[in-house]
Amino acid sequence: MLRCDLHTHTSYSDGTKSPQELIKLAQERGIKILGITDHDEIAGIEEAMEFASKVGIKIIPGIELSSIYHDIDVHILGYMIDYKYQELKDFLQYIKDIREKRAYRIVEKLKEFNIHIPLDILKKHAGYGAIGRPHIARAMKELGYINDVSEAFDKYIGYDKPAYVPKFKLSIREAIDLVHKYGGIAILAHPDLIKDRKDEIIQKTLEWKIDGFEIWHPDNEPETREYLLKLAENHHLVLTGGSDFHGENKIGYELGTPVLYCEIKDKEIKVECHD
Ligand code: AMP
Ligand code: ZN
Ligand code: FE
Ligand code: FE
Repeated sequence: MLRCDLHTHTSYSDGTKSPQELIKLAQERGIKILGITDHDEIAGIEEAMEFASKVGIKIIPGIELSSIYHDIDVHILGYMIDYKYQELKDFLQYIKDIREKRAYRIVEKLKEFNIHIPLDILKKHAGYGAIGRPHIARAMKELGYINDVSEAFDKYIGYDKPAYVPKFKLSIREAIDLVHKYGGIAILAHPDLIKDRKDEIIQKTLEWKIDGFEIWHPDNEPETREYLLKLAENHHLVLTGGSDFHGENKIGYELGTPVLYCEIKDKEIKVECHD
């Protein structure tokens, strides 16, 4: 088995490292198999594949889809998806466009509070990814409208606040189906980050043909791991894991932690934790 980390983000979503920088760090940490799972985005994969092949690291192409179940956020990881397929790229661009329009609606609403955010400042904070509320908050801070990011959420753009606009998200079922449509395996990400109705959601993912659970993740509790291990055994599911590394954007989530090893045959992934 080879050392792996199957859950990482690059600057193509909300990570701070480019695919090349991420791969270099993986190399330093002895990681041989790296899963790249940007939020709703696969644009970094080809670049990563090309660079990784030169340094002897295997990239598992992945994505982390944001989905929703009765207002509860649920993330679905898709591994081994056909990242070169134009139809998939077009669909992800379509989601990004809808989200961008939503961001502009928030910006419009903020004008009612005499908050004016120029487009170039907003885009600078979003970088490559779709514009979201954190970027709007950071732009507000830069422009001196607020003292810190949480103030923007508390006063204006948080859930139920006056400039809030809901975000477009797939349903869990749509996210799982999308992964399957493009040849991937669908994994329920970090189950302990599900804020409400966790058991019900886990049962639903089984009903909707989830392929496995991400059981090794910094936010998973030991009891949940035990429970999911048993469930996976009974339903013959895959178990995966990773650090959810975001570079400097998420402190305490270190590349290569927990220590995982993995074996891959075609589309079969087998992961073990050696911590
Ligand atoms: P969006 O995807 O545009 O709806 O923004 C969601 C992101 O905003 C979350 O992933 C958090 O990072 C951030 N966020 C949500 N609520 C708050 C809050 N109260 N304070 C700071 N950041 C928040
Ligand atoms: Zn993220
Ligand atoms: Fe996530
Ligand atoms: Fe993640």
